[in-house]
Amino acid sequence: MDPAPITIDLEQLSDDELAETFIRGCRERDQHNLFLARVAAELAKRDKHDDDGFVTPIDWIRFNGHMTAGAAANSVAVGEAMHRMPESVEAMVGGEIGFAHLTVMARTAEDLGDRFDERVLIQKARESSPGKFHYICMHYRHAADPGRYADEQAEQVQQRRLKLSRWMDGTVLLSGQFDPEGGAVLLTAIEPLARKSGAHDDRDLERRQGDALVELAAGGGSQAQIQVTSSIETLLGLAGAPAADMDLSPPISSQAVERLACDSSIARVLLDSDSMVIDVGRSKRVVSEPARRALGVRDGSCRWPACDRPASRCAAHHVVHWIHGGTTELDNLVLLCHRHHWMVHEGNWQIVQGDLGGILVIPPTVTFGLPGRGPD
Ligand SMILES: [Zn+2]
Ligand SMILES: [Zn+2]
Repeated sequence: MDPAPITIDLEQLSDDELAETFIRGCRERDQHNLFLARVAAELAKRDKHDDDGFVTPIDWIRFNGHMTAGAAANSVAVGEAMHRMPESVEAMVGGEIGFAHLTVMARTAEDLGDRFDERVLIQKARESSPGKFHYICMHYRHAADPGRYADEQAEQVQQRRLKLSRWMDGTVLLSGQFDPEGGAVLLTAIEPLARKSGAHDDRDLERRQGDALVELAAGGGSQAQIQVTSSIETLLGLAGAPAADMDLSPPISSQAVERLACDSSIARVLLDSDSMVIDVGRSKRVVSEPARRALGVRDGSCRWPACDRPASRCAAHHVVHWIHGGTTELDNLVLLCHRHHWMVHEGNWQIVQGDLGGILVIPPTVTFGLPGRGPD
C-alpha cells in the first residue's frame, strides 16, 4: 500500500478532503482484510501452526498477526466462506458494504450450512450497519432453523454462572457469565436503580451498578418489566418465523417467548404479520391478583416434585398456554419456580397432572449438555 497518506499533514486538509481520506482508507483496509482472509483460510488448511508449536491455526494467526482470537477466527471464516457469497464479496469490493458485513455473512453461512442463501441477505447488508445486519442475520438463522436456535439459547443458559468469593476483610468479589436473555433480565432490573439520582450524583457507572445490585438484593426496585416483541407466528413456533426481539438482548427463541408470555409479570407487545399491535385481552393472559393468591394457597410452593421454592419466587405456569386457548382459571395453572418453569418451556421436560392432585414430571429424551441432571 502507498505509504504516502501517513505523511499527509492532516491539518492542511479541508473537511471534505479529510472525510474522503478517511473513507478511502477504510475501503483500502477492507480490501486488504479480504486478501488476508484468503491467506488465513489457506493457512488454516496447512500444518504451519503445528510445526511452529501452536495448538490451532487460529492461535498461530492471532499471535503472529497481533490480532484478538475473535478477529483471527472471523478472518478464517470469511476466507473459507468466500465462494458461498460471491455477491457479497463483489459488493464489498465495490464499496457498498464493509468487511464487517462480510464477517457476519460468513458466520451465518458457517452456522446454517446448506440452508444458507446469500441472496436473501445481501440487500439487507447494503441497507444496514454491520451491527444491525448482525441482528437481522440472527432472525434469519431462527427462521431457517428454529430448533437449533432454541437449542443454542438453552445451551447458553446451561453456561450461566456467578462466582462470589470473599476476602479476609469480608469484601466480596463477584464475576460471572449470563446467557443473553438472563443477562437482559438482570440488566433490566439493575438499570433503573443504577441511574443517576440527580445532578449532584457524582458516583461513576460501576459504583451506581454496585449500589443497584445491593438495593435489588435487599428487595428494592419494582418487578422488572421486560419488553418483548414477537409475531404470532413466532409465538406459535411456526416454521420460517423470525425470532422475537427483547430489550437489551439479541433475538430470543419462540420457546423463550412462550415462557415469558406464560407468566404475567412481563410487559409485552405482540405484533401480527403486518406488524400491527394486536391486543390479546388482559383477562385472557394475565392471572388476576385473587387467582394468583388462591394459587399460592393451593400450591404453597413450586409444584415440581421435591422442590420447595416459596410461592413468591414462582411463576404461574399455564398447563395449556393461553396462546393455544388455555384459560387463566385455577385448574389450568401450576406454580413453578423459575428454574423449573424454564425446564418445562425450554428444557423439554413435560409435566402431567397426576390422579391425586400431584404432578408428574417426564424428562426429555435429549438433554442439553448435561445428560442425567435431575431437578435441584
Ligand atoms: Zn409456563
Ligand atoms: Zn421448582
